[in-house]
Amino acid sequence: MKVKVNKDACIGCGACAAICDEVFEINDEGLSEAKVEEVKEELQDEVRDAADSCPTGAIVIEEGQQEEEKAA
Ligand code: SF4
Repeated sequence: MKVKVNKDACIGCGACAAICDEVFEINDEGLSEAKVEEVKEELQDEVRDAADSCPTGAIVIEEGQQEEEKAA
């Protein structure tokens, strides 16, 4: 799963960082930023929760199904 914050939509309310500060952080501009692009398994529920809680829908999640087990 990948996550991004659409800066143009974010209003810096801080909800996402409050829910999952391992992924979201409020930057110097007062807007949220995703600290990681690829979200670890154990944080994915929190990230989905944060996306649901974002008042402006600024959190963009990309669910990836494919597993690259072998890249020989
Ligand atoms: S919850 Fe949404 S609007 Fe609020 S800081 Fe996070 S991305 Fe920005």
